Amino acid sequence: MSTTKIAKKTFPNWIRQPWPSGKVVEEVKSLLGDLNLHSVCQSAHCPNQSECWGRKTATFMVMGNTCTRHCTYCAVNSGRPGELDLDEPANIAEAVRRLGLKHTVITSVTRDDLPDGGAQHIADTIQAIKAVSPETTIEVLVQDFDGKREDIARIQAAAPEVFSHNIETVASVFPRIRDRRFTYTQSLDVLRIAKELSDGHFIKSSFMLGCGETEAEIRQTLIDLKEAGCDAVSMGQYLQPTPKHHPVEAYIAPEQFKIYEAMAYEIGLGFAVAGAFVRSSYRSEALLESDYAKARRERKDIDPHAD
Ligand code: SF4
Repeated sequence: MSTTKIAKKTFPNWIRQPWPSGKVVEEVKSLLGDLNLHSVCQSAHCPNQSECWGRKTATFMVMGNTCTRHCTYCAVNSGRPGELDLDEPANIAEAVRRLGLKHTVITSVTRDDLPDGGAQHIADTIQAIKAVSPETTIEVLVQDFDGKREDIARIQAAAPEVFSHNIETVASVFPRIRDRRFTYTQSLDVLRIAKELSDGHFIKSSFMLGCGETEAEIRQTLIDLKEAGCDAVSMGQYLQPTPKHHPVEAYIAPEQFKIYEAMAYEIGLGFAVAGAFVRSSYRSEALLESDYAKARRERKDIDPHAD
C-alpha cells in the first residue's frame, strides 16, 4: 500500500484544493442564512463546496449542528443540542426549490436526546422536498438510531432514493475514533435493516482512509458492506480538522485509491468512488446516474419485486 507517513503541517502534493469561493458559494451561503439552515459542507469545512454547489447539489444538516456524540475525527460540535426547529423541513424544501437542486443529501448530527433519534423529522424533510420538488433525488446520510428498526423504517417509508450510513473506518480502528455508543457490527446491522426496508432503493456507506488501517482490513470492510446489502461505497482521505482531533496516520496516494475503487468492484459492489477529496456526499448523484442504477431501474420496470 503506497502511503506517505509525513511530519505535521506538510501535505503531499495531491492534497491541494482551492478554498471554496465565488458567486454561487456566496449565493448559497446567504440563502442558507435567510432560511436559518445548516449545511455540512460548511460545518465540516468541506473542500468541495464550490464544485458541488456549482453543480446544483448540496448537503443539508438537519436538527442543528450540535451532536450528542463525540467522534475524535469530527469537526462538528458535541454537547447538548437545542430544540428541534419544526419549520426546518419546509425551509429545506424551499431552499431546494429556490436553488433548483436536482439532487440533495440530508444528513444529521446524532440526537440521542430525541425518542426516535430524529427519524420522523428526517422523514418529514424528505416528504416536504418531494412535495415541492418531485424531480429532486434525495440521499439521506444518517446515524445509527441505536440500531432501532422502527426508526430506520420511518425514514425508509419516506422513500429516499439512497439510504446512507457511514461505517467510517475498519473494525480495528472503529473503537479508537468513533463515539463508544457506535459499534462496527451495529452499523452493519443498520445497513442490513435499511436494505430489507428499501423497496429497491439504494444502500450506501463510506469510510475514511489514513487512520491506521491495513489493506487487508480495507478489503474486509468492503466485504462486510457488500454482505450487509450495500450497493455503493465511497472512500476518502481523512484530514485532521484541528490538532485536537485524531491524527492523520497516513496519506493514501491517488493511485492507491484507484486500486481500492477497483477492489470494491471486484468484491461485487455496484458503485464505488475513491479519492483524496471524496466525501460521503461528494458527487452522490453519480450513483443514481450510473449504469448499475440504470440496470436496477430497468429490472424493476420489468418486475417490481426484482432487486
Ligand atoms: S456522530 Fe457524526 S456528527 Fe456526531 S460526532 Fe460522530 S461523526 Fe460527528
